[in-house]
Amino acid sequence: MSEGDFPCDQCGACCRNVSLAKETSYLDRGDGVCRNYNEKTKLCLIYENRPSICRVDAQYELKYHTEYSWNEFVDVNLVMCEELKNLTKKST
Ligand code: SF4
Repeated sequence: MSEGDFPCDQCGACCRNVSLAKETSYLDRGDGVCRNYNEKTKLCLIYENRPSICRVDAQYELKYHTEYSWNEFVDVNLVMCEELKNLTKKST
């Protein structure tokens, strides 16, 4: 990885849909939203210590760096971001 950080716009869509992936479902507070998500600030309460599954850069290093370039991995994740944003819009 060398091209900088993942361009997260802090929309919260991933944190509001943790029940959709088996890797994050343990974070579900019961309604699909992460138990560490602050609805008012739209920020993670444990951001500095958030699990590696919540970090695109960590996932890239751990699992995907042989499969994708960093820029490709960013693009794949941005597609998922859009899908989650659309899903969140429909449910609110
Ligand atoms: S731990 Fe933090 S970053 Fe991860 S889903 Fe929950 S609120 Fe979002």
